[in-house]
Amino acid sequence: MRKKVIAGNWKMNKNRKEAKELIEALKPIAQDKTCGVIICVPFTNLETALTLTDGTNIKVGAENVHFEKSGAFTGEISADMLTEMGVEYVIVGHSERRQYFGETDITVNKRLLAGLEAGLKVILCVGETLEEREQGITEEIVAKQVKIALQGTCEKCIKNVIIAYEPVWAIGTGKTATAEQAEEVCAFIRKTIEGLFNKEVADGITIQYGGSMNEKNCAELLSKEDIDGGLIGGASLVAEKFGVLLEEASKY
Ligand code: PEP
Repeated sequence: MRKKVIAGNWKMNKNRKEAKELIEALKPIAQDKTCGVIICVPFTNLETALTLTDGTNIKVGAENVHFEKSGAFTGEISADMLTEMGVEYVIVGHSERRQYFGETDITVNKRLLAGLEAGLKVILCVGETLEEREQGITEEIVAKQVKIALQGTCEKCIKNVIIAYEPVWAIGTGKTATAEQAEEVCAFIRKTIEGLFNKEVADGITIQYGGSMNEKNCAELLSKEDIDGGLIGGASLVAEKFGVLLEEASKY
């Protein structure tokens, strides 16, 4: 059985003082939980997060990474810079990056490959817009995003990839996909992975749901067979709320 993994995505929130307070509050809450616990924090909080979580079961991730190793890319951070610090995870392809920063399937693929090559574990976000769902093309869109993002990966390195199914219409909107809708697409993603690799890889890969998942609706979502955890925005900013998700995910 796959272990559930809960990852927080802080987005552009929390200054250093607030980050310290949140992590200190999270540590005792996370301590006895058996699910995977990851916090993805702004670049400016990585050092703080790494120091404060040292020796705990909380893993630290970045929210983005550039695909080149070094060079004239003002404002960007390379995968080697992250691993050198001790960062273990990175999110790529978040819908906010696709929507506001011109991220495409091709650049998502480049970032994913750069992350894996540097030794990072990558949380790959995919998901359809409301318009695409209404047009009935959710599966086509998600399959395309998954297939392009994973181009050039191998059976061994795919073990370092988590896929987060995040319907764009559910992110930060308070509109959660129903557990059935989320399960349907997560199961479809697993089938897509089976087609790209094999059943063993598909059975082993962690597929999270993300999109207004919170302390109130997590139980039903996490009870679904193909939903192996969550990528959590808003509810990851409050220790007690995040704690409920960790508690629920640790029941499996
Ligand atoms: C996210 O940022 O990936 C996310 C799912 O946000 P929220 O939980 O706030 O919808």
